[in-house]
Amino acid sequence: FVRKQEEIGVSLNAVQKQAVLRTDGALLLLASPGSGKTTTIIMRIGYLIEVKDVSPARVKAITFSRASANDMKERFKRFFPDYPDDCVAFSTIHSLAFEMMRDYFRKKRVAYRLIEGDIAPGEVGSGESDKLPLHKKLILRELYHRIVGSLITDDQMDELTTYISFVKNKLIPPQQWSQVKCDVPEAERILHEYETFKRSGADKLLIDYDDMLVIGNEALERDRELLTSYQRRYDYVLTDESQDTSLVQHAIVEKLVRAHGNLCVVADDDQSIYGWRAAEPQYLLDFKRHYPRAAILKMTQNYRSSRTIVDIANRFIKRNQNRYDKNMFTANRSDRPIVLKSLSDYRFQAKYIAEKIAGIEQLREVAVLYRNNASSISLMNVFDRIGIPFYMKDGDNRFFSHWVVEDVLNFMRMAYTDKRAELFESIHTKCIGYVTKLQMAAIKGLANNESVFDNLLRFAEPQEYQRKLLQDAKDTFRQLRAMPPQQAIRAIRGKLGYEKALERLCERLGFRKEYLIGIVNTLEDIAEGLDTLEQFAARLKDLEAAMRSSRRNKTENAVTLSTLHSAKGLEFERVYMIDLIEGVIPSNDDVKKFDNGDTAPMEEAVRLFYVGMTRAKSHLELLSYRIRDGGQTKESRFMSHVRHLQSGPRQAAANPASATAAGREVRKPAAAPEAKRAKPVKKKTAKAELNPEEKQLLARIRETGSAHHLKFGQGEVVHLDEATIHIRF
Ligand code: ATP
Ligand code: MG
Repeated sequence: FVRKQEEIGVSLNAVQKQAVLRTDGALLLLASPGSGKTTTIIMRIGYLIEVKDVSPARVKAITFSRASANDMKERFKRFFPDYPDDCVAFSTIHSLAFEMMRDYFRKKRVAYRLIEGDIAPGEVGSGESDKLPLHKKLILRELYHRIVGSLITDDQMDELTTYISFVKNKLIPPQQWSQVKCDVPEAERILHEYETFKRSGADKLLIDYDDMLVIGNEALERDRELLTSYQRRYDYVLTDESQDTSLVQHAIVEKLVRAHGNLCVVADDDQSIYGWRAAEPQYLLDFKRHYPRAAILKMTQNYRSSRTIVDIANRFIKRNQNRYDKNMFTANRSDRPIVLKSLSDYRFQAKYIAEKIAGIEQLREVAVLYRNNASSISLMNVFDRIGIPFYMKDGDNRFFSHWVVEDVLNFMRMAYTDKRAELFESIHTKCIGYVTKLQMAAIKGLANNESVFDNLLRFAEPQEYQRKLLQDAKDTFRQLRAMPPQQAIRAIRGKLGYEKALERLCERLGFRKEYLIGIVNTLEDIAEGLDTLEQFAARLKDLEAAMRSSRRNKTENAVTLSTLHSAKGLEFERVYMIDLIEGVIPSNDDVKKFDNGDTAPMEEAVRLFYVGMTRAKSHLELLSYRIRDGGQTKESRFMSHVRHLQSGPRQAAANPASATAAGREVRKPAAAPEAKRAKPVKKKTAKAELNPEEKQLLARIRETGSAHHLKFGQGEVVHLDEATIHIRF
């Protein structure tokens, strides 16, 4: 197995070896980014199979997201190519829970139907609810309307779905739902009604994403036979990215391993970015309560990134109060400084990156990371135009079918013919003229092949003020046809009144204005440089196709475009973090809550930023801009912090043990202008006093995980990191 390690170019360090060798019992591996957590899990699986002769089918590797499940699967394949695909079960906790639920329902003969997952804010226009009757948000929208009597806003919808996920994932019983804070009026009642609704179907129980977990867990609780069958299925269970595991998910895992207790849990509390969905990193800190005989190992040596990046990231994450204090360090060399780029205008961002990476051969080693999916369309547009291949994991599917896009296209269609009443009807409330429903009805039946505007003027009894507007609209639509598409979109949003109409809609229905206007802005970006409206329509189709096919580019030599959330666990030579402005990261909501004393969302945004930074091996660039869509923007406070850290006095994030065991230099603090030039004091610690024999003894203990003491007898290592070893005798 040692040879195997050499073959694949990974030589495990002492703690990693411990984690691989200690296969039986519970083990928690708490470690920094890039310290080899996932590598260790994979090697442990390999060790179980190759050395301990465990059948691959008896190993279950669980992770939180589909992306990390795939990442693990790929790494296993890379390290152990001789095994058939899928011989080890790598899966998400949701798919495991779903299996359990399915088996349970099959036995009990319960018919069920899955409700479609979440859709993003702003997705559904008014009056479309009958198209997608079984969408969670549509059901909630209806319930809200019935109970509260008004339309739910996008922000409220976000808050409501988060609330629901939260109570479910935290296993909060219905009697206590009212105690969970939620700013949406009647949230608790809506949730009760939602639950009733899902159970009231004539033939089928409706199940959403959170229900799978709750029911999967209940199935194990209630059905002994089912529980035993799952417990017997796997002898070894491993979970990666466990900082994102919620209470109900932990409960499932706990039951799964209860019989043998062979559980390996790998996590980094600093990378917990799903708190809003009730992830429970605290559970890890109380791990011993759940698994009293558990061993806890820690790793803080980063093998991924340059020392420059590791040092700054390590100091950056310390701005959070609520964390396990640890110091990430590395033996890697320093490399070029983090690039902090403040562009004058948002419009230059995508082009800037495209230029920077145009000459790079290894595009698969490049990633562009953003917080909001909405950022991806403009990037994709520029990359596609220049011909840079890209891989987009979770492209913004909603963009191309969004009603705002459809509206703009309908405005453009009107430029070609203003004789189709039904076409004008689709936008008449969003166009100058204030044409009423009644007026529309008056001309709809006419088959005189005249302009709708002429018909409105002649047959719809327009008010005096309308006459001029209708004449203007008619003229503008006719001019539109000759305009290049970018100019046409400007005329649509300005002269034809579309932007004002969107603003009115936002006020009335609570849509998020920035989101809708953002879509129009993106359309303007896409239209840049095109000559005709046909070209524009064709370009949209092409882009949509490019986005869809980009998912197949995973194995190709392509740039990765990804949200920060989905990039967790991955690594790239070069990372560009974009849109680093206030309002995006941290979001307005993070700031608002922070100002009101709730620091949790702000700290989560810090961790998200940290996850982004620690994806980079050698080259990290942070990008912001001063103007977006004509308005001033402000650089993200996190980016400013990094700038400050980079330009300010250096404090090496040194390994506490580095002065001794690893024999590496301890960096002296560089003299800061304001600092007194004191002589560097050589720290004397007990660790520094070890003689060669003691050192060797220590190394042996690290290697074998056990020790013999003259007085206490045989002991077992229960906690190990670079600086300390705890032994239980
Ligand atoms: P993250 O927290 O981002 O998920 P991680 O802790 O899972 O990171 P890995 O992805 O397993 O870290 O490893 C990071 C990089 O370090 C990989 O390129 C891996 O090959 C390398 N690596 C891990 N352990 C060692 C080691 N002992 N020697 C050399 N390289 C190593
Ligand atoms: Mg990992």
